[in-house]
Amino acid sequence: MSATSRLRGLLIGAFLLVILSSFAACTFQPATIDESTSTATPEPTGTSLPAATPEPTGTSLPAATPEPIGTSLSVATATVAAFVTRQADEVNEAVADSSALWDQTTIGVCWDTPGFENEKIWVQDAVARTWMQESALEFVGWQQCEPDSDGIRITVADVADPGPHVAVLGAHLDGLEEGMVLNFTFDNWGNGENNTVDCGFPEDRRKFCIDAIAVHEFGHAIALTHEANRPDAPEWCRDMAQGTNGDWLITPFDLDSIMNYCNPVWSNAGFLSELDIQAVRLMYGENNFPIGSLLAVEGRLTFLRVHDVGTGYGPNNDFLDVEVVIQLDTYPGKSFGFQLRTDDQEYAHKGMLDLLRDAFNEDYRVRVDYVQTGLRNGEILRVLVLP
Ligand SMILES: [Zn+2]
Repeated sequence: MSATSRLRGLLIGAFLLVILSSFAACTFQPATIDESTSTATPEPTGTSLPAATPEPTGTSLPAATPEPIGTSLSVATATVAAFVTRQADEVNEAVADSSALWDQTTIGVCWDTPGFENEKIWVQDAVARTWMQESALEFVGWQQCEPDSDGIRITVADVADPGPHVAVLGAHLDGLEEGMVLNFTFDNWGNGENNTVDCGFPEDRRKFCIDAIAVHEFGHAIALTHEANRPDAPEWCRDMAQGTNGDWLITPFDLDSIMNYCNPVWSNAGFLSELDIQAVRLMYGENNFPIGSLLAVEGRLTFLRVHDVGTGYGPNNDFLDVEVVIQLDTYPGKSFGFQLRTDDQEYAHKGMLDLLRDAFNEDYRVRVDYVQTGLRNGEILRVLVLP
């Protein structure tokens, strides 16, 4: 669907509410949008994958429990933090541009900065449990950028000014180096000395800040801008306006939005508000593949691991309670698995393992039917080797 017809669709039938615009990019031309955004190569081994930390319950549903640190931020602290974030965003010259919507819902993401493997997983998980889980958007790749990588390119930097930010909004980020800049260490920004929430200490607050800021900046990356800029924002809140006024209002003014500096909860503690969720669904559609969906994928195995019963695989909030884990070249970053236990499935599962081992050794294409059990994981029901 073209941006024009999408705009028309949005204008019909919706209270216009969330403001979309593009920050100015005098020197940047919007890049052409390429559907083949996922150019990152899959991990050949499991070495850089998240450590398998078994969870007693084995459930792979995304954790929706609020971060403990979020609730302990006082209103006063939150206001100060919002001010600092606002300053960080002021590097963006703002020009209204309603063409910032992405034309596709699958958007590549890559890292221009090496290292920080844990923090990168935190960001990926934070984006997965928010914008991805609540809409048709899929952010794929998450590998090291190639020189010509498309999609959202993230640089990790820790300087006092600017803080975390996007250079432009939405689809204008496509392929732009340093399009998004995130801070993981908070030594020079967000460390408490420049009157902000102390994101650097203790460790759980550092993760809280990384998560919450990532969800906010990805809001910009899908073309959202700040609620305080809206013409219907309360007068006291409009003082917090920053950046160009957007040209589309999709939902009513939302004090709880993660895009609202006036929100008494700093960055809404990293969670989307009800109206944030409504907005992203109006912009990009519903998530048609929620947890529990029966799905199928095809591709070649890039990874095959068999391990002891009960060891499991994946981070706590996206855990696979399985003994056989595979990854496919077509879905880098997503893992599929099944159990290998003494039960009535034992022989069927051993048969699947034999098929997968052959496919891995011979580089055959396979089709895998699976149940979506987590944001990046699935439990395999059937395996077919393709001709
Ligand atoms: Zn912002």
